[in-house]
Amino acid sequence: MEMAETGIPVRVILDEKEMPEAWYNICADLPVPLPPPLHPATKEPCGPEDLAPLFPMALIEQEVSAERFIEIPEEVKAVYRLFRPTPLQRAYRLEKALDTPARIFYKNEGLSPAGSHKPNTAIAQAYFNKVEGVKRLTTETGAGQWGSALALGCKLFGLELDVFMVKVSYHQKPYRRTLMETWGANVYASPTEMTEAGRAVLKDDPESPGSLGIAISEAVEVAMKREDTKYSLGSVLNHVCLHQTVIGLEAKKQMEKIGEYPDVIIGCVGGGSNFSGILFPFMADKFAGKKLKAIAVEPVSCPTLTRGKYEYDFGDQAETTPLIKMYTLGHNFIPSPIHAGGLRYHGDAPILSLLVKEGYIEAVAYPQTEVFDAGVKFAQAEGFVVAPETAHAVKCVIDEAIKCRESGESKTILFNLSGHGLLDLAGYQEFLDGKLTD
Ligand SMILES: *Cc1c(COP(=O)(O)O)cnc(C)c1O
Repeated sequence: MEMAETGIPVRVILDEKEMPEAWYNICADLPVPLPPPLHPATKEPCGPEDLAPLFPMALIEQEVSAERFIEIPEEVKAVYRLFRPTPLQRAYRLEKALDTPARIFYKNEGLSPAGSHKPNTAIAQAYFNKVEGVKRLTTETGAGQWGSALALGCKLFGLELDVFMVKVSYHQKPYRRTLMETWGANVYASPTEMTEAGRAVLKDDPESPGSLGIAISEAVEVAMKREDTKYSLGSVLNHVCLHQTVIGLEAKKQMEKIGEYPDVIIGCVGGGSNFSGILFPFMADKFAGKKLKAIAVEPVSCPTLTRGKYEYDFGDQAETTPLIKMYTLGHNFIPSPIHAGGLRYHGDAPILSLLVKEGYIEAVAYPQTEVFDAGVKFAQAEGFVVAPETAHAVKCVIDEAIKCRESGESKTILFNLSGHGLLDLAGYQEFLDGKLTD
């Protein structure tokens, strides 16, 4: 019915052969230079040798690369094909429910095996570690999406994985642990007694709910101590944002196919990877003068971009990582245990932070009751139950669409459906029972 009315199908599908051959590296096009990471002790810019104990050389090269396109290896594409290209979908029913002239599109990254965008980088990272002879990875996870994505990647490339899972989420989201263990990972509730960083926190506060900053310290400590082990990060870093550009590159092709181009691109931001992924391939056009509004959405309980400071800070609580210039709430910040566990990091991707600082990207923050209300509206119109993280983006999309209704403008809005919410139903239940608070 919709297609007959508008000529635009509900889902715009790409063939496997149309999957991007290379990731897009926005660093080649940045209008202002990106401040480099600094060594935590010397405060000098980090060299590759500083990162080598933690990451394989291929990822370090990507981290500092100035090449515009970086080829996606055949082995990575072979795994991507399990779920990529993902559909670009027109939200006709949401438009109708909102009575808006806006045209709303979403890229559905919730269709990956782990249920989020995170496998796009997890698969790539597992592959690049594997080819350099690494046997085991360590990582942290909040709500468990990253841990499960990396568990999938490690299993498919034959690596072992130790996951330090933020304690509050470990108890709130027991099924993510099951998912990680199904894919063969070892999962520990952080802070643990296994590391110096964990023991130090527990000594001060035996009831600590944990935080991503603490869990990172634990994962880094284990990786530093073992020769065959490296560390993997699911967001923030340049190479992570790079891998996620497969989303935006596909979306761009899909929109071209139907003769559309977004006026507004919206995404939720935890560390910034899914939003960077959908946005950056379009950002190059904005640098070249094209009109495009980009809106990053975060929770009011962890308002890095809207209320944080743009300054050098540590990536972790124990001050072991390089200092990175980013919007930060301070590396000791422990946000309240909201349901969008993936949005509880104290900092943000340095590239994204720079673009917010320079005015290329706007940021907004919402409280979680409004976010869940938007998630329910979306589910009741479009069917998909989105992750609480994603519901932040949905809330902003609804607000923008309502503005269009009021102004009569028919804007094209694109957002990233970063993940499904089928393992986050406890949060939805609380909301439906009227028990959720801000
Ligand atoms: C992890 C996660 C996020 C937040 O992380 P980013 O790096 O900001 O993308 C958002 N949505 C989902 C579904 C996630 O799993």
